[in-house]
Amino acid sequence: MTHFDLTGRVAVVTGGNGGIGLGMAKGLAAAGAAVAVAARNIKKGETAAAELASCGARSAFIALDVADEGSCRAMIDETVARFDRLDILINNAGTSIRKPPESYTAAEWHTVLDTNLTGALFCSQAAYPAMKEAGGGKIINIGSMYSIFGTSYGAAYAASKGALVQLTKSLAIAWAKDNIQVNAVLPGWIDTELTQGARRHVPELHDRVLTRTPAGRWGVPEDLAGIAVFLAAPASDFVTGAAIPVDGGYSSMGV
Ligand code: NDP
Repeated sequence: MTHFDLTGRVAVVTGGNGGIGLGMAKGLAAAGAAVAVAARNIKKGETAAAELASCGARSAFIALDVADEGSCRAMIDETVARFDRLDILINNAGTSIRKPPESYTAAEWHTVLDTNLTGALFCSQAAYPAMKEAGGGKIINIGSMYSIFGTSYGAAYAASKGALVQLTKSLAIAWAKDNIQVNAVLPGWIDTELTQGARRHVPELHDRVLTRTPAGRWGVPEDLAGIAVFLAAPASDFVTGAAIPVDGGYSSMGV
């Protein structure tokens, strides 16, 4: 096996039915992995799984509401049942509710935290026994620039993504003895349904991102494929607890 070969490995990508998740799923499939995509929208999920299969990968769509503990555990169990093992978990499912912090209801706050943070814990807990049994594994948590920076219209999102980095470090330390590496990826501004919604909400966002990003462009989901393969592959076996920006230089930029 070469450093970046995923032949024989089984991956599950939460929120893998579109956007960044599907971009990463395609990367893993191209490197040889079998890939399950897990999310709520069945039509999008089946289309994504078919797209992965058309590239030659073993693939499946598995229904998941990551905000529901039982659903997280059932999704991991089904992945293991279908593919006989689990080596790679990408906790990518995410959502945002954009409003000023003073106006969040408890339900809105919990929706964002349950989806972006607590679901990652439940999926990771459920994946742990199968990874331990396989002799190791890779968990990749999808943070954000808001893991680093604050935002006046997304306090719940920033709180969830900041905490996800601390969860990443804690799982990395706890499970290093089991040869399970846990890392976070912090995407910059990527053109997806999520950010199309943000652009409708904040019309000047598009140009602000272009000005603020040294690469001079929005990212596309495929920009995340390479880091997903690296963090899923033997090449990263001594990398754990890291939070790696993939942001066209956004987080390195001063005023
Ligand atoms: P999308 O809206 O395209 O993808 C979000 C994904 O999460 C969808 O596949 C959605 O599927 C899934 N999802 C949402 N809620 C749930 C839920 N309760 N249970 C299961 N799946 C769920 O946006 P992105 O691709 O942009 O976002 C993917 C990740 O990347 C998120 O964690 C986001 O925070 C993060 N990110 C995005 C950035 C960007 O610029 N786009 C920047 C930084 C981070 P479904 O609705 O079918 O359940």
